[in-house]
This record gives sequence, C-alpha cells and structure tokens, in this order.
Amino acid sequence: MIKHNETILVVEDDSQIRNYISYILKQEGFPYFTTGTAQGALSTLVSQRIDVMLLDLGLPDFDGMDVIAKVREWSEMPIIVVSARDQDKEKAAALDAGADDYLCKPFSATELLARIRVSIRHLYKSRREQVQPVLSVGDLSIDLDKHQVFIKAEPLHVTPMEYSLLTLFFKNMGKVLTTQYLIKEVYGIGYGTDTQALRALMAGLRRKIEPIPAKPRYILTEIGVGYRLVDE
Ligand code: CA
Repeated sequence: MIKHNETILVVEDDSQIRNYISYILKQEGFPYFTTGTAQGALSTLVSQRIDVMLLDLGLPDFDGMDVIAKVREWSEMPIIVVSARDQDKEKAAALDAGADDYLCKPFSATELLARIRVSIRHLYKSRREQVQPVLSVGDLSIDLDKHQVFIKAEPLHVTPMEYSLLTLFFKNMGKVLTTQYLIKEVYGIGYGTDTQALRALMAGLRRKIEPIPAKPRYILTEIGVGYRLVDE
C-alpha cells in the first residue's frame, strides 16, 4: 500500500457516509480525522495539521458555508464540498465562497480519490507558486509565455477573450470553475450575471479546440455550476 503524507479531514454528520469515506481513505493509506459538526471541524483544524478538507454542507450546528468562510480567513487549504446531486445553486455558491471542488452524493471511491488527487496537486502547486509556461492536455496545449495555443503542435488562432478563458482553465486543470467566477475573470467585475456572453464565448472556443464540439472532451460542462478542464 502506498503511504500518503497528506492528512484529510472528513466533516460529515451522516455516519454511514462518514464511515464509507473513512474506509476508502484507510484503504488508500491516507491519514485522516473525522467529525460530524462544524464546531468539530474548526477545532480539528486548529489543533491538527490538515491538508485537505472534505466538507458536507448540511451540518447540525452551523452551515458548511460558514465553515468555508471561516477557514478562508486564515487558510488556502483545498476544500472539497460533498453535496446532494440536485443542489446546483448550493454547489456554485460553495465554490464562489472559496471551496475548490465538489462531489455529488452518491459518489464512488474512484471519484472521491480523483478529487483528492487533483486537490493535492493544486496544494503543492500553490505552495511552490509556480506555473509551468507550457501546459497541455491531450492534443491541446498552451504556452503562457508566448501567449500561444496549439493543437497537435500546430498554432491555433484564438481571440484575446478565448485566450484568457483558456488560461484560467489551464491554471486550474481538473478543477470546476463556476460561471460567476469565469464571468468576473474574463469580463471583469460589473459585468453582472450575464451568462449568455460566456456561453457564446465557450461555444466559439469549443468549435476551435474540440474535435466534436457537441461532445466536448477537453472542457466539460458541469450542469448548473460551471465548467471543468479535464485533467489527464
Ligand atoms: Ca449532512
């Protein structure tokens, strides 16, 4: 068994789900702590070295959203929200409040571990605080120094807006980015909640980068929440 150094905190009041997650983490060799309350989460965070937090939003004492806000006052640690499948608004709000990703119940061990792997990678990336100049996924690559996009090493013409959108995805590979976040980053604050423009921009970009734009393999739609660049 591979030993991991990253300690996971599981915050979940449903004991069945808590045990399920614990079982997976134990199998995978992750050290972990568990708690069923927001209070428990905060006291564990101040007394232990925690690298990644799995957070259920519906907790008996405080809302999980309050935990995110509190933790973000002092830490940039990855927070993965565990939420029910039909609560798109809640997922988006949690991401906008500072969560890094989310998992929908019910989820498989593979999904859970994939999310944890992505968050650990981002944890080290942000600790090193360096982004490699050339990033790629499949046949698609971007050179952040030269401001150039390539498909199969062939330069691809993109507009400045498409380029800035693509840059955001490559800097957050594997991570879901909310519609609100993308609008703010690409168009600036004050653009409001006009999702139409972003959707048009995304459609144009997909026509350029996706082999089959109607079935994207690079930038996936997370319905009701936003988009995610696949992490291969
Ligand atoms: Ca709950």
